[in-house]
Amino acid sequence: MTDTKENKKRTSVELYELRQSIKRLEQKKSFNMSTSLISLYIPPGTRLSDIRSQLLDEHGTASNIKDKNTGKAVQAALTSIMARIKNMRNTENGLVIFCGMTGLNKMEFHSIVPPEPVGIKLYMCDNKFHTEPLREMLEPKTSYGLVIISRGGATFAVLRGNDLKIIRDEESHVPKKHKMGGQSQRRFQRLVEEAANAWYNKMAQMMNEIYLESFPVEAIIVGGPAISNSKYLESKAIDYRIKEKILGTFDVGYTGKAGIKELIEQAQDLLQDFELVKERKLMQQFLTHLGKDTGLITYGEKQVREALEKAAVDIVLISEEVDRITFELKCNSCGNEINDTVIVSNYEDYINNLSSKKCPKCGDTSLEIINEKDLVSELKQKAEETGANIEIISTKHEDGMVLYKAFGGIAAILRYKIYGY
Ligand SMILES: [Zn+2]
Repeated sequence: MTDTKENKKRTSVELYELRQSIKRLEQKKSFNMSTSLISLYIPPGTRLSDIRSQLLDEHGTASNIKDKNTGKAVQAALTSIMARIKNMRNTENGLVIFCGMTGLNKMEFHSIVPPEPVGIKLYMCDNKFHTEPLREMLEPKTSYGLVIISRGGATFAVLRGNDLKIIRDEESHVPKKHKMGGQSQRRFQRLVEEAANAWYNKMAQMMNEIYLESFPVEAIIVGGPAISNSKYLESKAIDYRIKEKILGTFDVGYTGKAGIKELIEQAQDLLQDFELVKERKLMQQFLTHLGKDTGLITYGEKQVREALEKAAVDIVLISEEVDRITFELKCNSCGNEINDTVIVSNYEDYINNLSSKKCPKCGDTSLEIINEKDLVSELKQKAEETGANIEIISTKHEDGMVLYKAFGGIAAILRYKIYGY
């Protein structure tokens, strides 16, 4: 359960795998329900040698624990962590470590590179692992660029989760339109228009620079007085990559922070929908191929596996509800081999009850796990080998439910036809 990806944005399948790891960790209990399972959150920038010396102190303190078995178990876990992190290095996001004697008297060690930086150092000893801070990091957080643009000024902000940052607040020097009259009025108007154009161009460049370079965002929402009727967003000065990210425009009366706040309120529904836009687009692509009978899709576990074998897959779509683990078991009495599939939330129960499970052939209870496969990880590996992408689709929207219910949760969009169409 070690993973090594750092700071770059993780794909949906990587986040899915992390979520699965957390689900498994949450099912684990200490061997005798004692408070001997250690959860350790290490912030970035902390030296692991410093952590080791702190753990050494804890090791000393643990000898005072009243219950001798618990004390020994804590010390064993600490020793195990100290030995392991000797050969590890801290990452840009820090490290999260879980270690201790679990259910079957087994010393387990798991290290995870979190998807976001660890905020504060935590050391917890309990009868379970503490995964709450990791879970928190997995909440979806899209970054949005928010722009208020008007003749009088412009404000640029970035919104991520509940965190709003004003990046720039600019004032324009475009003169107000005065009433003059005759020749000088027309000349003055022309100068005002030139100044306004120059201002809008400058703001277009600023928008490009902010949202493509300094603060890259996934989507942009633009507000301003009568912005919905303005041609500003069609301007050539705005980079096409920015244009592609614009989700919508809203007429907003204010500028500055007040304008940004009003924009967020107006765009509330759009922001919520956007989280799922990418997933829905992929599903629409799949359903369009299906409807037009192009032969460029397939679905079902067996079919998708076959398509992957033929390197014919462009994108694998997997429902988040598909979380199966397949165990390969061998009977130590008669040598019989069987497969057993469980869902991830029953993983720990299954392992703990294995000793009472009977071999279907000889009836003995000496089955042993010789291999376990996580369906999604397995498909991911196959996808990587052939350059296919893999996307996890939630069931928070109708198209996601369709994938899960109508197509068994596994489908693929193909690069070329593989069946006799
Ligand atoms: Zn047997």
